[in-house]
Amino acid sequence: FRKVQPSAKELVEGILEGNITALSRAITLVESTNSEHLAKANEVINACLPFANKSVRIGITGVPGVGKSTFIEAFGKYLTGLGKKVAVLAVDPSSTISHGSILGDKTRMEELVKDENAYIRPSASGETLGGVARKTRETITLCEAAGFDTIIIETVGVGQSETAVHSMVDFFLLLKISGAGDELQGIKRGIMEMADAIVINKADGDNIKKAKLAKTEFNRALHLFPAKKSGWMPTVSTCSSYTKEGIDEVWKTISDYLELTQNNHYFAEKRSSQSQYWMLETINEQLKNNFFNHPEIQHLLEENKKAVQNNKVSPFAAASILLEKYFKG
Ligand code: GDP
Repeated sequence: FRKVQPSAKELVEGILEGNITALSRAITLVESTNSEHLAKANEVINACLPFANKSVRIGITGVPGVGKSTFIEAFGKYLTGLGKKVAVLAVDPSSTISHGSILGDKTRMEELVKDENAYIRPSASGETLGGVARKTRETITLCEAAGFDTIIIETVGVGQSETAVHSMVDFFLLLKISGAGDELQGIKRGIMEMADAIVINKADGDNIKKAKLAKTEFNRALHLFPAKKSGWMPTVSTCSSYTKEGIDEVWKTISDYLELTQNNHYFAEKRSSQSQYWMLETINEQLKNNFFNHPEIQHLLEENKKAVQNNKVSPFAAASILLEKYFKG
């Protein structure tokens, strides 16, 4: 008889053969909140780890409407045209709130969806940013083991998700459009600082001139930032996801970056510090969840909140009581 649920071993075999059904099933396991699934997912991921890591991971961020889906479709098609295997993932912790994800939307990547060398997976939903980020990290491992050599991770440039994505990619790309001379307003300084490249999209038709002006402005602004540890000077370019003008240049930039950072060993160092970061992040997150979901702690927490409110106990003393109870029982 045919088993409905393949074993961890069968999944791993399937993934290593590049079987997309096996890959999708494994990702679904990773995304599950069921603890049995979690154990199986961990088994699959550990078996895949030795086969992962051989890829370039590219983060793409930008506000809604800037053209992320359209750009990723054009860029992804360009990459598969070069013989690459491209996986597109999304990090969007808000997707449950906004009902239906605005990222990794397959209906907006019609061509790429049909491409047998591309795999598109929308964001895991119903979760905290920490949860979504962990799942995306694991999904990267699975996709790499399945033979995808270029991983694109899309996120919206609002909130904290771009920081999470920045800490799981090799190269971080900020997508922009030109406005009426207000290019530098409304972007958080932090995002500019994270960017390895700023790409001004929609540089077509009447927009070309404005896009070129924006490019000059961004270039000037970037020079004011301190030098990056990677030794890389962030670039600014323009492109059109419609005419495809400038799409090849984006890949050229990323290739230059890879050459530089592989030669100066920054690439490997960054990946290993990212792995450590995610280990510590996971511990933080799970400790916190475990603490706040502990029934006895919840009870004691309510009591102490009131005591603190009424000045019966200091906030620090109350915190010590709770932590002691949690760790020493
Ligand atoms: P997202 O929200 O960032 O994913 O943006 P979309 O990819 O959905 O694009 C938003 C709008 O901009 C859509 O109407 C696209 O057709 C349009 N758009 C995207 N790229 C370009 C481009 O290169 N040139 C022009 N003129 N329009 C574009």
